Amino acid sequence: VPISRYADPAIPSGGLTTSIVALETDVRREGKPVVGYGFSSIGRFAQSGLIRERFAPRLLAAQDDEVADDAGSNLDPFRAWSVMMRGEKPGGHGERCVAIGTLDMAIWDAAAKIAGLPLHAFLATRVASANPIRSVPVYAAGGYLYPDDDLARLGDEVRGYLDLGYTHAKIKIGAAPLAQDLRRIETALALLSAGNNLAADAMNVYDARSSLEAAAQLASYDLWWFEDVCDPLDFETQAAVARIYAGSIAAGEALFSTAEARLLDLHAGLRRDRDMLLFDPVHCYGLPGYLQIVKLLTESGWPQSAFWPHGGHLFTLHVVAALGLGGAEMNPRCFQPFGGLGDGAVISDGRALLPKAPGIGFETKRELFQLLHSLHTAR
Ligand code: MG
Repeated sequence: VPISRYADPAIPSGGLTTSIVALETDVRREGKPVVGYGFSSIGRFAQSGLIRERFAPRLLAAQDDEVADDAGSNLDPFRAWSVMMRGEKPGGHGERCVAIGTLDMAIWDAAAKIAGLPLHAFLATRVASANPIRSVPVYAAGGYLYPDDDLARLGDEVRGYLDLGYTHAKIKIGAAPLAQDLRRIETALALLSAGNNLAADAMNVYDARSSLEAAAQLASYDLWWFEDVCDPLDFETQAAVARIYAGSIAAGEALFSTAEARLLDLHAGLRRDRDMLLFDPVHCYGLPGYLQIVKLLTESGWPQSAFWPHGGHLFTLHVVAALGLGGAEMNPRCFQPFGGLGDGAVISDGRALLPKAPGIGFETKRELFQLLHSLHTAR
């Protein structure tokens, strides 16, 4: 399905797509089969071929005891994950990890619904490293360059986030000349209560030289963090930036495996006392893969509070709540109908309360639920 970076989907957004899946189980609740829903998070294009040709068939061909828990009364998402990973070789991560993450999201949704629990509460019973928190720090992400009237529309967008109860926001830089990006940052900063309530995301576009130029220019703004500075695998440039930029740097959004996470930690010069880790639980082979990354990096000294997963949607909110991570990105206006919380959910002082609906709670997002539900009503 198409997905737009802008609240107004008429603005061209590069033809971005995502995949949606519905996973129908033979468990019945209130006379209907329990269905889990998932989608490919945002930002990496749809994974339809890999899902249809490789990973969904493995799940469908599995024996009951390969995907169910010991009691046989619910799905075991970790076992289902092992079924999907069967025969996959190390390395060559590409985007197969996103296809697996898409199905993994639907499996967790179904399993939590079968257990009758919101996903964060279900995760607290199934994940050894769970450390539940009662409300989740969130920030509003968006701020893409508008094709016309950019600064006025950016200002309107940030004001809209504040009206929703957000205290922190993130905008994009790197798509315009640096001087224009500095005006974008100043426009957003003027609306936020403190300088360090704004993060700037360069979308991995700067090279070795422009990374350092941007870092030098951004240093005086006291930003919350400087994100996705250069190519995700250019650890040399990332480390050079970390040497001259005293503020927080955020990285990891476009790295999808534990091996890559380890290389980032070893070679990118990141600092455990201030930098942020943005790995996306869906893009990183789903939650089982993400948990391996969190384990690896926390055991090597990173605090849980450094993890602010990319995604911008309800699934990551549950993950942050269950694991007690730093906080969650939200896309309240962009990437609709996927981004943000359930309809009518309240953000208070920059924090979101935990959803109460069973599963992920896509049923509480009317437009998204209609789209997901169409998968099995259209058959
Ligand atoms: Mg980013």
